[in-house]
Amino acid sequence: MSFKEIIDKVVADGAAYCDIRKEHWNKTSLTLKDGVPEMVAQGEEEGAMVRVFYGNGWGCVGTNDLDDIQETANRALTMAKKSARYKESETDLADIEINQDKIKIPMKEDFRDISAEEKLSFLKELEYNLSKNFVKSTDIRYRDSLVEKEIITSEGTHIQMEIPRLVAYLIVTGKSDTIQRASEGTGGTGGYEITEKTLDKTNVVLDRLETLLEASTPPSGKMPLIMDPHLAGVFSHEAFGHAAEGDLVASDNSCLKGKLGEKVASDIVTIKDDPTMEGYGSFPYDDEGTKTRNRVLVKEGTLNDFILDRENAWKLDLEPNGGARAEDFRVKPLVRMSNTIMEPGDMKFEELLEEIKGRGVYAKASSGGQVSPAQGTFQFNAQESYLIEDGEIVKPLRDVSFNGFTLDTLQNITGITDKLETGIGHCGKGQTAPVSDGAGHVLVSEVMVGGRE
Ligand SMILES: [Zn+2]
Repeated sequence: MSFKEIIDKVVADGAAYCDIRKEHWNKTSLTLKDGVPEMVAQGEEEGAMVRVFYGNGWGCVGTNDLDDIQETANRALTMAKKSARYKESETDLADIEINQDKIKIPMKEDFRDISAEEKLSFLKELEYNLSKNFVKSTDIRYRDSLVEKEIITSEGTHIQMEIPRLVAYLIVTGKSDTIQRASEGTGGTGGYEITEKTLDKTNVVLDRLETLLEASTPPSGKMPLIMDPHLAGVFSHEAFGHAAEGDLVASDNSCLKGKLGEKVASDIVTIKDDPTMEGYGSFPYDDEGTKTRNRVLVKEGTLNDFILDRENAWKLDLEPNGGARAEDFRVKPLVRMSNTIMEPGDMKFEELLEEIKGRGVYAKASSGGQVSPAQGTFQFNAQESYLIEDGEIVKPLRDVSFNGFTLDTLQNITGITDKLETGIGHCGKGQTAPVSDGAGHVLVSEVMVGGRE
């Protein structure tokens, strides 16, 4: 039976909705740690997920046996019927435009044509560039993946798409009186041509590590902060973006609930999550077959939209905007971000510095942190930081962290520079999603800065 016939049968058996998402993956992962290849994985796999909506219940079953889709669909239907029995609150799917489309994100240089040995020798070249006397340890990670997806729904959606992605991370560690680490990642949707950007990053991590090894411990207290584009991008994703995910809003786990149309940031702040722009987190259709569009989450300070799949759009009485993503065919799609950008402003970096009277901190790149979308709080660690005194950069700092309330911090943004820079990341929410984020340099008039252990 064809997928269409299988879907038709599930609907004939009483389901309100059914979709099948078939995926074929071609992946290579390589790790070079201190010059030793630690993990080399290369291969192909395929599988599918069947989702069935019956009554108010869902049944979602994944399989890597494509000859077994009929049985998988039966299991999904049984599961949906069971789940409907226990579900008390009503739920449904908001309508979407029905599309039949075939779309392929191009690779200038197809990474499937390049052998694992050749990829490994590229990593060795990176390692060679990173070998300086102050570097004690190097860790280089490479991963490419091409996914061919087919999404067919009982409503007539039929999407075929090919998405190639490539990512590489450089991590260097050094030691003075403490151990310091610097890392940079590059990546995007596209082919092996993306690795050209990786070579440029070797100097960035080396400079950063060298600076950190000589840096002082930071001051603490409330003070102005300039975030570089990478840190401001991570702030936009982590502190704000997660709170704008429709499932968290609908389940009352977001500080943004009920605030659509309200001021949540200063007038110069516009934040978008845009799967349609070029970036590591791009995709033309989401995993429910919804055509993606740019989501302007904050428009000149006002909360304007959420990231939405079909079910949470229905719950919130809003329009789905292509927010459903699944890590692979084994799992059901969740509401996820894509490329999260705080739009650049009209200032120059020197002008941001001049705004700082007295003491402040300039913080670059992130090295982890914590957020609570429900409480609207965040804590971030910067990789590289500098002390600012009366508009001048005075000296490097290490182990800088800062924290606060997301909405207060967004209100305290008083300057954004005019040049957008983006970075890449892997967002975790039970499943991993490739994402990117970006911003200009961002001045926050006041935030709590402190050191960390
Ligand atoms: Zn995230």
